[in-house]
Amino acid sequence: MAKRKVVLNFPPHLIDQPITYRLVAEQGLKVNILRARITPKEWGNMVVEMNGDKARVEAGLRFLADLGVEVEPLAEEVRWQEERCIHCTACLAPCPTQALYVDRASMTVGFDGEKCIACELCLNVCPYGAMEIAVEK
Ligand code: SF4
Ligand code: SF4
Repeated sequence: MAKRKVVLNFPPHLIDQPITYRLVAEQGLKVNILRARITPKEWGNMVVEMNGDKARVEAGLRFLADLGVEVEPLAEEVRWQEERCIHCTACLAPCPTQALYVDRASMTVGFDGEKCIACELCLNVCPYGAMEIAVEK
């Protein structure tokens, strides 16, 4: 199984097309929409995670490109530097996916990278620089 997080940039004429539906129905992929900003008559952006076997994911990316959707790899990920964290919980409220959470047993903050959508909302909140962007190599 392959998992790819990508940014899809939709030109205005494709905004109202059921493209993510077609990725599922025609390309046989599982698609999680992590973020979307769609405005009528403007370019739209969507961050999606595509799951499927490698050939299907590659075919899905070609399908998007052929339609005229610009596809960029999600270049950055957000990491939690545990040694800098003082568990103040300031970052919990802005995190939309509960990637940052409180472990009730230990009453300490934890980070689940699988849930993180790299929205960066926690970066400016953390007073200790414990949340940082890591550029994928
Ligand atoms: S980048 Fe967004 S999703 Fe990830 S931990 Fe920070 S606030 Fe949560
Ligand atoms: S805001 Fe920073 S120091 Fe506070 S719990 Fe979150 S990551 Fe840790």
